[in-house]
Amino acid sequence: MGKIINFFNKQKQDEYEVCIVCKKKTTVKREKPITQRYTYIEGVGQLCSRCYKELLEQNAFE
Ligand SMILES: [Zn+2]
Repeated sequence: MGKIINFFNKQKQDEYEVCIVCKKKTTVKREKPITQRYTYIEGVGQLCSRCYKELLEQNAFE
């Protein structure tokens, strides 16, 4: 039973997107439309605000 409960708890935690760079959970919910996400890069994925800012400063998207 413990395993099953863990599974469901994990599912619940996963309602937020994970940053593709640092693998940390972002504040962006999975259900949020991509067009409304500030730190989402098309063709790349979801970034956390920190990684997004770092990449912007490096002009990584140009
Ligand atoms: Zn990150």
